[in-house]
Amino acid sequence: PVDRSPEIQEARLKLPVLAEEQVIMEAVRENPGIVICGETGSGKTTQVPQFLYEAGYASDGQIIGITEPRRVAAVSMSHRVAKEMNLPPQVVSYQIRYEGNVTSDTKIKFMTDGVLLKEIQKDFLLRRYRVIIIDEAHERSVYTDILIGLLSRIVPLRNKKGMPMKLLIMSATLRVEDFTDNQRLFRTPPPVIKVDSRQFPVTIHFNKRTPMEDYTGEAFHKTCKIHRMLPPGGILVFLTGQAEVHNLCRRLRNAFPFRKNNTTDADTSEAMRKFKKAKQKKKSLPRIDLDNYSALPVDEGDEDREAGIGDEEDGGSDLDIGDDLADSEEKADPSIPLYVLPLYSLLAPEQQAKVFRPPPPGTRLCVVATNVAETSLTIPGIKYVVDCGRVKKRFYDRVTGVSSFKVTWTSQASANQRAGRAGRTEPGHCYRLYSSAVFGDFSLFSEAEITRRPVEDLVLQMKDLNIDKVVNFPFPTPPSTEALVAAEQLLVSLGALEEPPRTGSLSCPITPLGRAMASFPVTPRYAKMLALGKQQDCLPYVIAVVAAMTVREIFEDLDRPARSEEESTKLTQRRARMTQMRRLWAGQGAALQLGDLMVLLGAVGACEFAGCTPKFCEDNGLRYKAMVEIRKLRGQLTNAVNAVCPEVGVFVDPKMTPPTEHQVVCLRQIVLAGLGDHLARRVQAEDLLDPKWKNGYKTPLMDDPVFIHPNSALFKTLPEFVVYQEVMETTKMYMRGVSAVEAEWIP
Ligand code: ADP
Ligand code: MG
Repeated sequence: PVDRSPEIQEARLKLPVLAEEQVIMEAVRENPGIVICGETGSGKTTQVPQFLYEAGYASDGQIIGITEPRRVAAVSMSHRVAKEMNLPPQVVSYQIRYEGNVTSDTKIKFMTDGVLLKEIQKDFLLRRYRVIIIDEAHERSVYTDILIGLLSRIVPLRNKKGMPMKLLIMSATLRVEDFTDNQRLFRTPPPVIKVDSRQFPVTIHFNKRTPMEDYTGEAFHKTCKIHRMLPPGGILVFLTGQAEVHNLCRRLRNAFPFRKNNTTDADTSEAMRKFKKAKQKKKSLPRIDLDNYSALPVDEGDEDREAGIGDEEDGGSDLDIGDDLADSEEKADPSIPLYVLPLYSLLAPEQQAKVFRPPPPGTRLCVVATNVAETSLTIPGIKYVVDCGRVKKRFYDRVTGVSSFKVTWTSQASANQRAGRAGRTEPGHCYRLYSSAVFGDFSLFSEAEITRRPVEDLVLQMKDLNIDKVVNFPFPTPPSTEALVAAEQLLVSLGALEEPPRTGSLSCPITPLGRAMASFPVTPRYAKMLALGKQQDCLPYVIAVVAAMTVREIFEDLDRPARSEEESTKLTQRRARMTQMRRLWAGQGAALQLGDLMVLLGAVGACEFAGCTPKFCEDNGLRYKAMVEIRKLRGQLTNAVNAVCPEVGVFVDPKMTPPTEHQVVCLRQIVLAGLGDHLARRVQAEDLLDPKWKNGYKTPLMDDPVFIHPNSALFKTLPEFVVYQEVMETTKMYMRGVSAVEAEWIP
């Protein structure tokens, strides 16, 4: 029996999924697998594990596992469910790549999908689990897709062996045909249970015109208008990235400053008074044209009029707001404080947690978020959504593997998800910063991630599971044959798969080296480096470098535009400091040749030496959260290496001395062994077809040259041959993580 507090019990009863408990549990009893569909916020993630627990699915030593595509969700949902059930974290636990609190008493385990995939490698039948819930299946993350494919085989196998297991697939949007109408996946389609969400109507307002560039500015104006003129209720703004989020947060905080401790009830009534006044004098205030919107459902549209946000004379005039009005928006108005919070996945967890707490009295909550707020986290009390209609995604070039982040239009399904966030607690409004015509051109659904990215890591994992013919795997949506061939070729070249009898074969078996590589939780290129690392006592260095290469963005972004003179001076100072530190970390003499990877090694070493404190990171331009991740990953990789070759007995030394000259040479060769297909040669004088190619590098696969970034340790040296971690297209095609290699090493 679960002992829940009365408040929790009351909140639960409001969740739509609770009404379906009987139906869901009956379907679970009668079927090996089911699909549960329901609006975000209907209670799937927090409640379904509790249903299963109460029905005894975690009572005879086995446990309930739930996978999430995002780490944020795995951690925060385990906390939430523990709290709701009044159980300690030893019982309702989580495991993500770098950390976890799972114990032998764990009954409900939240984890990222990657973690479960690793567990399948250790125990294909997943004997510890009585039930697996694949959450957020609509996100179509690569690991989720693979897990569904694998579980479609594991579940029948378990049942045949008399160790029954249940599979629940949970999804937010309604397109589940890829799972249900897919004969290769499930011969008998699993039943779909739809959770009727008591979603309140959300009125959709389209802009008449679509700002192509400054949608952040547009979001600012819209948010200001909502805050000034519309009744209380939280605002959720969707932008595409961290920099945009911070920029908008800063502008909104300046416009409606909120100081702790100066808000009283008087402020609330002040805000109300202002709001009423705004209603009365609506003619003189900035307004949005009612005809500017197409409203859905139609009968909900009138609220705008009452709130005075309507009736702009001139269509699309949001962009044409007179300067005086724009000025007045920028002028600080502390009488109606706005409690502005950022939300994105790289944000520190304690900052992320703030969005779940009620805003200080007398303020209105405004969360400026990236896609994380679309389906994985439900923020309470949101009544207004402002949607820029875009999303930032990583794109890979199929042939070259070059990746770039691009901002593109989102899908209709995503835009509708975003709108839905406004209708959780009462009728709401969604302001789309684009026209209905533009919306009509959006694709209906977002593509499955697996079709958009290289798959060498997945292919290696599958080979390690003895799935030699990866083409025959029951993918919900299969990757292209092209991508599979490229992956297989790379793995053969790394020595992870046996040479094929003929080229282009797609069923090369795994080698012992490949098995060792598959046991490391990093991509195959880096796994190869780890596998070679024991030579010349290089392992501790290889582990540190691989950990650092795997974690995103370890340096603070100092290239962001400054909003004030003061900030500009500060940024210049910090940039100078960072340049100095990079130079220090790059070392001297032979070490310089290891280039950017030496800088990473130096940064990791120095940070660890200083105890990995927030202050050290802050002072030296390192992102604290990244450094903590690197530290955890170093520990994890060290354990993984010891498991594969116990004789090396490697350990994490917080006082690691820099590598010797000899070791640096060795490290460079190890790096080349992993990044052999990422080789580039400086454009030779005779090939200088275009002056723009000066200082460029040629790679085997690309027609145009790539470049060493000014921030790189090798920017001044320009060695003839280099290997790089990846090519990112920003203002130019830049190589990241560059290291020099000698001509005679190249096979
Ligand atoms: P779904 O999985 O269907 O999207 P959830 O189970 O995530 O729905 O959310 C159900 C409700 O629980 C939401 O109203 C959400 O706001 C609330 N909730 C989730 N996490 C927390 C938390 N950490 N603190 C307070 N409320 C939360
Ligand atoms: Mg959920």
